[in-house]
Amino acid sequence: MPIQVLLGIVLIGIHEAATTPDLRNSTYLATIGLLFPAMLIGYRLHRPAISVVMLATAMGGCFLLTEMLAAAQSPDRNGTTMSVAIETPRICGQLLFIACLVRIVTDRHGRHPWSLVGDAAIVAIGAWLISWVVLIQPAIQQSPTSVAATLVRGLSQPLGVVIVFLLTMVLFAETFRTVAVWLLAATILLTLFGDLGYAAIAAGHAGGSGERFDTFYMGAYIAGGAVFLHPSVRSLNERVPVGPVRGPLGRILLTSLSMLIPAVILAVVSAGSTTDRVVRAISAATMTLAVSLRIREAVRANSAAQKRLLTAAQHDLLTGLPTRQLVDEQITEALHEAWRRQARPTVLFIDVDRFKIINDSLGHAAGDEILRIIGRRLRASLPHHVVLGRISGDEFIALDPTITTVGEAMALADRVLSAFRDPVRLAVSGDMHVSASIGVALAEPGGRASAEELQRNADTAMYRAKESGRNCIAVFDQSMHRSVAHRLSLESAMHGALERRELTLAYQPIVELRTGQIAGFEALMRWTMPNGRSIAPSEFIPIAEETGLIVTIGAWALLEALTQLRTWLDSGSVPPDATMSVNVSPRQLRDPGFMSIVQEALRRSKVPPERLWIEVTEGVMITDPEQTASLFHSLRAVGMHLTIDDFGTGYSSLSLLRRFPLQRIKIDRAFISCVADDASATSLVRTILAMAESLGLEAVAEGVENVAQFHMLRELGCRSAQGYLFSRPLTPASMTIGHVLKGSEPELVRALWP
Ligand code: C2E
Ligand code: MG
Ligand code: MG
Repeated sequence: MPIQVLLGIVLIGIHEAATTPDLRNSTYLATIGLLFPAMLIGYRLHRPAISVVMLATAMGGCFLLTEMLAAAQSPDRNGTTMSVAIETPRICGQLLFIACLVRIVTDRHGRHPWSLVGDAAIVAIGAWLISWVVLIQPAIQQSPTSVAATLVRGLSQPLGVVIVFLLTMVLFAETFRTVAVWLLAATILLTLFGDLGYAAIAAGHAGGSGERFDTFYMGAYIAGGAVFLHPSVRSLNERVPVGPVRGPLGRILLTSLSMLIPAVILAVVSAGSTTDRVVRAISAATMTLAVSLRIREAVRANSAAQKRLLTAAQHDLLTGLPTRQLVDEQITEALHEAWRRQARPTVLFIDVDRFKIINDSLGHAAGDEILRIIGRRLRASLPHHVVLGRISGDEFIALDPTITTVGEAMALADRVLSAFRDPVRLAVSGDMHVSASIGVALAEPGGRASAEELQRNADTAMYRAKESGRNCIAVFDQSMHRSVAHRLSLESAMHGALERRELTLAYQPIVELRTGQIAGFEALMRWTMPNGRSIAPSEFIPIAEETGLIVTIGAWALLEALTQLRTWLDSGSVPPDATMSVNVSPRQLRDPGFMSIVQEALRRSKVPPERLWIEVTEGVMITDPEQTASLFHSLRAVGMHLTIDDFGTGYSSLSLLRRFPLQRIKIDRAFISCVADDASATSLVRTILAMAESLGLEAVAEGVENVAQFHMLRELGCRSAQGYLFSRPLTPASMTIGHVLKGSEPELVRALWP
C-alpha cells in the first residue's frame, strides 16, 4: 500500500507541474490505471469478497474508458464538453459502484437489500430534482447542448448522492470502522467534490476550467486502490457485530430531507419552460411512486418480522415443533369445533422411556440429538392434519381433531409407536433403541372437557402405560383417576414412613434342597401404615424408585438386614456361615454413594462382605451396561456376592451374563410354579440349570410352594430354593427360634428329608 500511495502522490505532483495537456492526461490516466494492479495484488494478498473485486474492476474499466474518450475528444479536458458517448460509460461506472456498495452494505447489515434500494431511490430522485432545478436547468440555459447529453450528465449527480447515501449506511450503521471503510469514504468524498466542481462550472455558478478538480479524482482513485491493499478490506463484507445502531436515524433523516428539500425548492423556484414543467411533474410522480412502494415494503417487512417473532415464541428451538402454548390453543379450538364435525378430538401424550438415564449417561448433546431425531420421525409418521408439539423435555403431544372412535385413536397411537421401532443412530455413540409410553385420551362426545383436562387425562393414561412396562399404549378411563389419586397419596405418605418406623424387614430363608439346612435369608421390605394397612412392596417399591426415596430406605434396609444377621450369628440361632440377601434397585445402583453406603453397613454390622448377597434384576445390565459392570467389579473386589433376581423374566442373554461378575441366578417364580406339571416348564428349568452350571453360577429356585415342585427341583439338580413351602417371609419376632431359623421344623424335615 505505501508504494501505491507514494506512486500516486508522485503522479499528482507531475500532473500539477505539467505544462502540456498530453502529460496531464497521461498522468491522469496512469492514476486510474494504478487501480487495477492495486486490486489484483490486494485480492491475492487479502482475499476480499470476489463479487466486490469484480464489480470494482468493471467500474474502474468504465471510468478509464470515459476518461480515454474524453481525452481523445478534447485534450484540454474542458469540463463543459458533454456527449452521450462519453457520459454513458461514466454512468455505467457509477451504477457498478452503487451495486458494489449495495453488496457491501447488505452483507454488513443483514439481507434487506430492498428497503435499502428503496431508500436509495428516494434519495436519488430527491437529489435529481434538486440538481435539475439548481444545476441542470441553468446549465441548459447557459450552453444549449443536446438535451440527451445534458440529461445523461445530469444523472451523474443523483447517482453521486446515492453513493453518498450508501456510504452513510456503511459509516452510520455500525460500531466499528476499519481503515478500509475510511479509505472507501475518502474515495467517495473526493469524487463527490470533483463532481460538484464540474457541475458548478457547467451551471455557471463558478468560472474557469474544470481541470483543477482533477486532483480530487486522482486522489479518489489512489484511495480506492488503497482500499484493496489494506488488510482490513477482508472485513468489508463481514457482518457487523450488533451494537448501538445509529443507521436508522440517519437513514430516516436523509430520506426525509430528500423529500422535503425538493418540495421546498419546487415551491420556491418557479418553472422556466414547458420542458422544465414536464420534467418536474414526471420527477414528482416518480418520487410519489417510490415513496409508496417503500412504505409497502416497510409494512410487509414489519409484518414478516412480527410473524417471525410469533413463530419463534411458539416453536421449540430444538425440534422446531409447536410449544405447549400453541398446542393448548389448537386443542381448545378442536374442542370448540368438535360438535360440528361429530368428532372426539384425541390427545396422545408421548413420553420417551428412561430419557433421564440416556441424558445422564450419554450427555446432553446426545440427548438433544435424540429428541431432534424423534421429533422428526414423529412428524413424518403422523398425517398432516395431526398437530404435533413438544411440551417439555422428553414429552410430546399429538392432537387429532378428526377422530371419532377408540379404534381410530389406537391406530394413531400405533403409528406413533412404530416411529420408535428403528434404532436411533447417534453420531457419537452409534445405534440406540429408544422407546416411548403413550397415553391416549378422547374427548367425550358432546362433553365440555377443557384442553387442560384432556391433556391431564392423556398424561394419566401415559403413567399407566409406564407402569405396564413401558413401550406401550394405554387409553384413559375414569378409573385411572382414582388409581392416580391413590398413588399420589401413597407417595406423600411414604415421605416420613422411615422416620415414623412404619418400615420393617421380613426374612425368608433360603434352604439347601438336599439337606434342609438354611443357607441364608432374603430380606424383604414391609410397610404398615399407621391405620394398620399393609402396602405390598410391588406397589410401593416402584414409587420409591421413581421419587428417589429408595436411596434412603434402601440404605436403611441394608444396615438393618446386616445388623439382624449379626444378632442371629452372635446368638448362634443361625448356622455360622449363613448369608443375607438384600434387594437393590437400579436407582440405588446409579447413586454415586452406593459403594460407600454398602461398606458403611458392613463396617457397622461387622458382617464379613462374603456374607452379603446383592440381588439385582436383569434390567440394570441392559440400560447402562458399562457403569453397572464397573460397579459390580468394585463390589466383587471387596468380596460381596451378586445375584440376578427374577431370572428369565427380563432380556438377559448368555453373552450378557458372561460379561458381569455374577455368582448366582434366582429362577423366577413363574417357571417354578408349573415346573412339576408342565413338561415344557420342566425342560426350561432343566436348561436354565445346565446353563448356570456351565457358567459356574449357583441357581436358586424362587417361590417353591408344594412338595411336587420340591421333588422335581431336587431331581433336576437344583441346589437351593426359597418359598412358602419352607417358610413365608417372617419378621424376626414371629420366627420360632430353633425351628425356622435353623431349618429344623420337625414335621417339615420328616416330610421332605425323611
Ligand atoms: P423378589 O426379590 O423376587 O422377592 C421374592 C418375592 O416373592 C417376595 O415378594 C416374596 O414374598 C415372594 N415369595 C417368596 N416365596 C413365595 C412363594 O412361595 N409364593 C409366592 N407367591 N410368593 C413368594 P415381596 O416380599 O412382595 O417382594 C416383592 C418384590 O419387591 C421383591 O421381589 C423385590 O423385587 C422387591 N423388594 C422387596 N423388598 C425390597 C427391598 O428392600 N429393596 C428393594 N429394592 N426391593 C425390594
Ligand atoms: Mg429378591
Ligand atoms: Mg425374585
